[in-house]
Amino acid sequence: MGLISFLKDKFSKKEKNEKYVAGLDKSRKNFSSKLHLLTKRYSKVNEEYFEELEEILIEADVGVNLALDIVEVTRNETDQKKITDPKLINEILVDKMFVSYAQQGDSITNEIEFRENEPTVLLVVGVNGVGKTTTIAKLANRYKNQGKKVLLVAGDTFRAGATEQLSIWASRLGVDIVVGKENQDPSSVCFDGMRKAKEGKYDLVICDTAGRLQNKLNLMQELSKMKRVISKEIESAPHEVFLIIDATTGQNGVVQAKAFKECTSLTGVVITKMDGTSKGGIILAIRDELGVPVRFIGLGEKMDDLEEFDLDQYLYGLCLSQEEDE
Ligand code: GDP
Repeated sequence: MGLISFLKDKFSKKEKNEKYVAGLDKSRKNFSSKLHLLTKRYSKVNEEYFEELEEILIEADVGVNLALDIVEVTRNETDQKKITDPKLINEILVDKMFVSYAQQGDSITNEIEFRENEPTVLLVVGVNGVGKTTTIAKLANRYKNQGKKVLLVAGDTFRAGATEQLSIWASRLGVDIVVGKENQDPSSVCFDGMRKAKEGKYDLVICDTAGRLQNKLNLMQELSKMKRVISKEIESAPHEVFLIIDATTGQNGVVQAKAFKECTSLTGVVITKMDGTSKGGIILAIRDELGVPVRFIGLGEKMDDLEEFDLDQYLYGLCLSQEEDE
């Protein structure tokens, strides 16, 4: 059974996540309808068909290199099997998109894995405006609802209002927060945070960081100092480092991601505002160019609009659910 049939079969049994379907609406309208129109315009595939296919993938922000790769392997397979029906070729295309993502690493656990006898520490990095504060609040909300004792650390002491905004979220969600003074060394706020986390036996500590990418050397030094301070208090920490990327920034987001990866080791990416972009291919681009798994995606502004990344749900939301609507 091909992937498309598998996904259709799986999601016809009500397993589909409506949030994915709704949140990927814009991307689907862009990507899936273009594929659909292409299929209608060609009764048999030829050189131009594949060129148009490449364009559709590039316009969806899959990234140029990956788009070329995916079309090439699709083309090789269709040549080999002597397939000329565009509909069947689209099936192979979706299959190849799946493989390109899945091949990048072993199977991944999206959820944070908790330490047994010490707080689990998550460092959150990303430039301003990408949705970092909202994502920290969403993650705090998620794990609080799972019964975890959560502490926030307002480590972005350079941006006016960052601490205040995070404090508002903390009080709304009913979780504790450690804050510093404006322009206080972020590492010293982290230090206070780690002390409190150990003493108060918190399960999860989420540390915000300042996302100043203008100067890579500074950022690198700042993040490594924060990490040093954290690991002095909790030796194995930080256990997770999540980079937040705004899907609506397209390929610029991929460039940001690469820069952050050069500054610090990342254990996951959270892609926000997937509901606000028509270029949902960015997930494949990030995975291809970074090799870091997308752990969660933001599908709206509300606290429960954060979903674990699921490749099947994503491809179904991006490529297929529209066919059912027709
Ligand atoms: P920060 O500067 O990186 O901390 O960004 P904020 O967390 O303040 O978010 C910036 C804006 O993006 C706010 O208006 C958020 O409501 C919005 N936002 C964050 N995540 C999402 C998302 O997944 N979907 C949508 N539509 N908006 C989001």
